[in-house]
Order: sequence, then structure tokens, then C-alpha cells
Amino acid sequence: MANPVLPSSGVLSPLGLDAVRISPGFWGDRVALNREVTIAHCREWEEREGWIGNFRGEGPRRGREFSDSEIYKLLEAMAWADHPDLPELAETVARVQEGDGYINTRWSGSRYTDLEWGHELYCYGHLIQAGVARLRMHGEDRLTRVATRAADHVCRRFMEGTETCGHPVIEMALVELYRVTGVERYLEMARRFVERRGLPALADIPFGRGYFQDDVPVRQAQVFRGHVVRALYLASGVVDVAVETGDEELLKAVEAQWERTVARRTHLTGGMGSRHQDESFGEDYELPPDRAYNETCASIASIMLAHRLLLATGDVRYADLTERTLYNMLATGVALDGRSFFYANPLQVRVPAVPHDGVNHAAEGGLRSPWFDVSCCPNNVARTLASLPAYLATSGADGVRIHQYTPGEISHGDLRLRVETGYPWDGTVTVRVLEGGAGRISLRVPAWASSATLAYQEAAASPDTRETRAVAPGYADVEREWRAGDALVLELPMEPRWTYPDRRIDALRGCVTVERGPLVYCAESVGDEPPLAEVAVRPGAPLSEHARGEVVELETEAVLGASPAGPWPYRDRPHGWNGGPAATLRLIPYHRWGNRGPATMRVWLPVAD
Ligand SMILES: [Zn+2]
Repeated sequence: MANPVLPSSGVLSPLGLDAVRISPGFWGDRVALNREVTIAHCREWEEREGWIGNFRGEGPRRGREFSDSEIYKLLEAMAWADHPDLPELAETVARVQEGDGYINTRWSGSRYTDLEWGHELYCYGHLIQAGVARLRMHGEDRLTRVATRAADHVCRRFMEGTETCGHPVIEMALVELYRVTGVERYLEMARRFVERRGLPALADIPFGRGYFQDDVPVRQAQVFRGHVVRALYLASGVVDVAVETGDEELLKAVEAQWERTVARRTHLTGGMGSRHQDESFGEDYELPPDRAYNETCASIASIMLAHRLLLATGDVRYADLTERTLYNMLATGVALDGRSFFYANPLQVRVPAVPHDGVNHAAEGGLRSPWFDVSCCPNNVARTLASLPAYLATSGADGVRIHQYTPGEISHGDLRLRVETGYPWDGTVTVRVLEGGAGRISLRVPAWASSATLAYQEAAASPDTRETRAVAPGYADVEREWRAGDALVLELPMEPRWTYPDRRIDALRGCVTVERGPLVYCAESVGDEPPLAEVAVRPGAPLSEHARGEVVELETEAVLGASPAGPWPYRDRPHGWNGGPAATLRLIPYHRWGNRGPATMRVWLPVAD
């Protein structure tokens, strides 16, 4: 079963890369580009920056203290993509492993002297995830032996005591290694790492222990906090431990933390993180569009967590957030050519970024960069796209559920299905039965789809005799004896819609935006196009659709502001809009912004008075 996450119990079981085949389409194209371009791009930069050379002992060590983890993430991507370069790169890595299983190019000689910032266990976590991917796709080899020897070393060194790592990820990696090998000490080690956290297990740091979720035991926490990627990787591991040990209380704790975080600490795009200083969540409702951080890795971590919660509970809201995050964050994080990446993903950019094609030393999100000093995001995108088919559909006692729509084929038991769709541009999703069998087929109706319909078309019957019914958000089920040629046709309403923020989000008060299907839209200004600093819209105004190739763009009537420059931006009475001339405002899908060169951009638009 070729899955990054394969729980031994839960409401739903994932269908893996062996059961879901993706074909050309929104995601199929990106998965192919990832395999053909992005993986080689990452390899090239890791060589250029000397991070792979560190494993060959070439010259003084280069890169940050956690750069080994980037090679491991790339190895994981290669494992899912069945990439021919994997054995040779794994061989390079293996040479550094010491006799007792320890492996790290930075800390050898001063092992575990800085658990807060050293990232040694974090690096193992990614190595183990690469090993698990290889075991599931290929079987045992050099890479999987390196990974299990490292895991055994961790169990020997850390099973007793109170220590843990400043950056979680080893927790979920160890549980997955337990799932694939059946060796119980890996699960027990992960459980102890989870239970130690917050006692506390780490030294205090200037950001405070909340930064690495060591401020409160995980069972007592109310919300995700601190560094976003750390928080969501930890929560993913906690769900894994809870599921494998049958710990309902622990699972419920994470569900409650997720619920509050989604309700109060999540941007419209599904992005999480409002503070640049420590890459952390802000407080509740602290969601500024221009200072949104929304690291690409944080969105990947959010998808990993939501997927685990979906499998454990079957609750549709986890699949809904995954959809939002896939289309508006993961698709945004990588350029259309697969060779440059966003680290931060703000919802407003006031000043066009300066183009460059080298290493970006900052993480600000003005223009995608080919590489970063801290290049977690490109490798994370690569491994996620390489395993993406495993996130689309599940099986359960009740049959097959399809959570995300993109062209491809899904097999489960006797059933073989083909999904045909132009989603997310088009709202028609046809699920055609290629090989029949008995069972239920469930299709997710997204939370935004308030007037969806589902039709059943019997193979032999004419289309006029279709049974069509309205279906509410959630899962729409059809159970029957399926025959080849039968089809389900889901129609999702794709009219663009105005979206308003909660009034407690101070930074967005007085603004609106537009969504269409699962996509968030934005205004972008490139070159001599009208600037966006003073553009306002009238919510409820018509939104017209314009096809540009397959992409659906929107237009609406806008007002250009005409505020005179003043010496002081405050006064004793409200500022009117001083509306200037009317103009047509073009809106593009947020994930496509920044592909035409340096630009200003905004998702949230002021309401004209
Ligand atoms: Zn990152």
C-alpha cells in the first residue's frame, strides 16, 4: 500500500499511489512537472549549495544545521516518484552513518548538545519518512536500512529520560515506521516524545517555550500556537500516536485545537501563520493580509494533519480544509514552470519585489525564488506532489469516498472508476464505472457548494432518464450494484461569490473578496497596470467570467480612489473614499499571481462607500 500515512484503524483507509492514478489535469500536470522538473531542480541546488557535498566530506561543511533534512525530503520525493537517481543519492548519504546508527553532517563529534536548535532528531524524522516511502514503493534497500538503523539508534539513546527535539517530525515518522515494520518500540518512542513535551522537556528560549510547543502538555493545549510548522508536525504525530494506541482523549484534544485554529487563526487561503519574527501563529483573529506569513511548509503540514484527522474520523470538514489549502497554498507555493517557490504567502503585496535568480536570503513573499538559505519549502513541495494521489480518495467499510476531484482512475476491490472533470475551472465531475461491483460511492460536496446536484446515469439508459437530486455539503452517497458504463455526475455551482471576513479580524474590516469554486481570487498589478493601493469594489456587483485558456478570470466594476496626499493620516471625522473614476478590475486565481513578473497584489479589497 503506497501511502505516506497508513493507520491501522480509523473510519477511513487511504487509497495509495497503487490505487489512484492521476492523469492530465490541474493536479496531474503539476505532479508530472514535479517529477520531470522540480525534483531535478532541488537536486541541482542541493549540489550547488554543497549540502550533498557535506555527505561526501567535501571541504568545510556548508548550509544550515538542518540542511541534511533537505536531502532526506528530496529522497522521499524520489521514493514516491520512483526516481532513478535515488539509489546513488542514498549511497552518498549512507556513507556518513556511524557504527551505532548516528547520522548527521553537522553535529558528529558534539552529538545532542543543542536539542533546542540542533535539529538532529528532526533530520532523522525526515530520513525515516524517506525510508518509509521507499519501503512502501520498492521494499528494503540501502536507504531503508540507513533509516531503520537511525531509528534504532534513537530508541536506544532516547527511550529513557526526558529529552525531545526542538523541531517535531520524528513523532509521525516513528509511528509510520512502526506501521510499516510492526516494530513496537518505534511507536513507544513516538508516544514518549509526545508525552514529554510541555512538562517541559526543553530549555527556555527568547521566543518562549510556546515556540516549540513545550509550554503546555499537548493534552492540555487549547489551540495550535508557536512556530506553525512545528505545531502542525507535532499535531500530526500526536494523531498518529492517538490512533495507534487507541487514545481517544488525545485525539479529541487535537480535534479541539484544530477546530479553534481553523475558526480563528487561519487565512482565507488555508494559510496559517501571521508573524514573521518567529514564523508563528498570531493570536486569535490576528490575520493581517499584508503581514501574513503563511509559509508554504505550514500549508503542507496542515494538509498532513487534516488528512490524518479525516482518516481517523471521516469528518468532511478536514477534506474541505485540505481542498482550500491545496488550491490556494500548495498550488501557489510553486511557479507554473516548477522551478521557483514562495516561502511566505501573504495576501497583499504593496511593493513589487526585485527579481533575482539566485539564493533568496529572506523568506518574504514578493516573488518566487529558485532557492533559499533555508530551503524547506521546495523539497516539501516536491515530496507532497510526488505523493499527492494518496490524498484524493479513501475506502471504508462503506465503499469508496472521493474527497478531491482531478482526472484519474481509482481502484478498490472489484470497482474501477474513472474521474473525468475540468475542475476547478468547471464544476462538472463525472465518475464513470470501468469495472463494476457492489458498494457505495461517496462524493464530497464542498462546504461552499450550496446548490449542488448529483445524477445517476445507468449504463444502458439514455441520458434523459437520469435520476438527478439536490445534494447538500458533506458526502453524497449512492449504493448499488455497479455495472461498467454506469456514471455519477456531480454538478457543483461555480458562480463567483463575494466573501466577507469575520468582524473580529480587525485587519480585514471594511474589505471583501471573491471566490469561485475552491479558488480564492486576487487583483494583481504588473508594470503599468493601474496600481492597487486605492482600488475599491462594491460587493454584490456583477462578476463576469473570462476564459484565458483553461483559466477562468473574473472582472468587476471598481472605483479608483483619489485621496490627496496629506501630512498626517488621521483626523477628527471619518475619511470618505473620495471615489475617483470607475474602472474594470480584473481578478485572477490567487495561486497564479506572481507568474508575470514583479507585481503588487491584494486578495482583500476595500468596500467603496
Ligand atoms: Zn518551508
